[in-house]
Amino acid sequence: MGSRILVVEDEADLADLVAFNLRGEGHEVTVALDGNTALAEIQRGRPDLVVLDVMLPDISGIEVCRRLRRKRETVRLPVIMLTARTDEVDRVVGFEVGADDYVTKPFSPRELVLRVEAILRRTVPNADVEGPQVITLGALLIDVPAHRVEVLGEEVLLTALEFRLLLDLATRAGRVQSRDALLGRVWGYAPNVETRTVDTHVKRLREKLGDGAKQIETVRGVGYRALKS
Ligand code: CA
Repeated sequence: MGSRILVVEDEADLADLVAFNLRGEGHEVTVALDGNTALAEIQRGRPDLVVLDVMLPDISGIEVCRRLRRKRETVRLPVIMLTARTDEVDRVVGFEVGADDYVTKPFSPRELVLRVEAILRRTVPNADVEGPQVITLGALLIDVPAHRVEVLGEEVLLTALEFRLLLDLATRAGRVQSRDALLGRVWGYAPNVETRTVDTHVKRLREKLGDGAKQIETVRGVGYRALKS
């Protein structure tokens, strides 16, 4: 079944190319040529995913993403950013901006489509959730069916990806998870992605968790482990 995707890119040729490829996969695609139009369109059309270029004529894609992450209604909206600069990547997926994924320009439309499909697959709500409904680890409380996280009773707003990452670690508390294993399960694609993506997201997750951050331990040279208490 197709999803509703908003493509935000001011280069009309590129926007058309991306839209064409996504429509080919059965998605319903809307294009916005600048950041303010994008924000209005997200408010109005409630897309399932946003492909967002960093360089836009009015407000940058980075600012658009930041604003989405500040609001409860859009904090979990999946965002894939298009960036022309590899040195921008950490920032784009980092704490400050919080995109779910990125593709660096120039990219093949096929690559982008694969990323989109991976994100859509993992954001489909899983009806038959197995395991515990509520997990507590030290100061952290994870209400699994509600996708809600609290630290010392205070709710923390997490993106869909951050929630999956935390849940993945929490359900395997006490056991070290390698970056590759996390990439496969949380991101949903093979570890051809740079593993620093994992590190960047863990860093961001820890910053958000505040007092709960110490429940996620770095195991040098291996990966990460959630601590039970
Ligand atoms: Ca652009």
